[in-house]
Amino acid sequence: MSNQDYSVKQLLEMGACTNCQVCADVCPAVSASQNGELSAISRMKGLTQVLKGRGGLLRGLLGRKLPSGEAFDRFSETVFRCTLCGNCQEVCPVGIHLKDLWLSVRQDMVHSGHYPKKIDMIRDNLGESRNVFGEDNEERAEWVEDMDEPPADGYIRDKADVVYFTGCTSAYFPLAQKIPVALAEILDRSGVDFTLLGEAEWCCGFPMLGAGLKEMFQVFMAHNLSVIRERGAGEVLFACPSCYATWREYYPGEFKMTHASQFLVDLIKSGRVPLKELNLTVTYHDPCDLGRGTRVFDEPREVIRAIPGVRFVELPHNRENCVCCGGGGNLEMVDAKLSARIADRKIQEIRSTGADTVVTSCQQCVRTMMTYVRRNKIPLDVLDITQLIRRALG
Ligand code: SF4
Ligand code: SF4
Repeated sequence: MSNQDYSVKQLLEMGACTNCQVCADVCPAVSASQNGELSAISRMKGLTQVLKGRGGLLRGLLGRKLPSGEAFDRFSETVFRCTLCGNCQEVCPVGIHLKDLWLSVRQDMVHSGHYPKKIDMIRDNLGESRNVFGEDNEERAEWVEDMDEPPADGYIRDKADVVYFTGCTSAYFPLAQKIPVALAEILDRSGVDFTLLGEAEWCCGFPMLGAGLKEMFQVFMAHNLSVIRERGAGEVLFACPSCYATWREYYPGEFKMTHASQFLVDLIKSGRVPLKELNLTVTYHDPCDLGRGTRVFDEPREVIRAIPGVRFVELPHNRENCVCCGGGGNLEMVDAKLSARIADRKIQEIRSTGADTVVTSCQQCVRTMMTYVRRNKIPLDVLDITQLIRRALG
């Protein structure tokens, strides 16, 4: 066990914490659980003890002890009960890059052997099946068959200008599959030259970073880059904010990378998607990875406002202050109850606006909010931005 999972910058940043506790005030895990141990400040204190307790000779000279296995496990529990929403980082007045730090701590916990068993499942699924759910990767584009008029080639083409990188959740979860169906129909109707990768698409790597499995990430990234090069594409399109953020942050900038909300704005402005009137009151939930993560705030709002008849109302917490829906950071796999409690607070906030529809730009947010709404029989429509535009196309 060593402290090599942390950069010097991270170690220095930790020393700059002023104990102001602002990070705890905005943490959805803390407010939903009422457990202060899940806050950024508390986690940093625990981490400082772990780091100081290592250190070989110096540790001996200073008389410091490594935390017991039990204490390690307790600390690790707080590390994985976090949605990686980045709200703590957004408000930290001294600018500590907390989200990156949480990824490093997860990596450390995996290397140290103190992590939830579900992580082994994620690793095995990805290693064997190339997707996070352990499904047959050949079935990655099977959702195309659910379309009203599926094309003969299944949108799998040798060459295309644009590659639509669907991501694991949209490919396999029935609730989320409506998103690629909607986007493919929009692209088709607008005459965009695009292709899917089908079974050649591997997970973008985001779940590996969130699970502390950085080593696997490089292999997946190299594979995805090579299959896109083969298609001769200049642009990669994402409806999944986590795929988009991962590509933007960790992949080389070899291709133009575009999120669906940005692509839709361009299509609407160029008159390629004529929109009919929809009589809806809509609010917008900023997905953490798209909003705080990649600062895409305006385009989804532009898309919503472009639809005639739609009344748009903002959430009390919006844009960079938007509160996580509970679906991030693999939290659902580790603590489904906490994830649902966070979703409960989110839905209450949405209902306070009087909107009949909540729109987001993320399949995981759609899944989390839709599951909660259905389970609790709440009269609220949950739509991805692609589904909203698909509806407006008629
Ligand atoms: S990333 Fe989000 S859930 Fe995790 S500690 Fe920060 S505010 Fe809390
Ligand atoms: S907001 Fe930043 S400085 Fe304040 S307690 Fe949290 S980590 Fe420390």
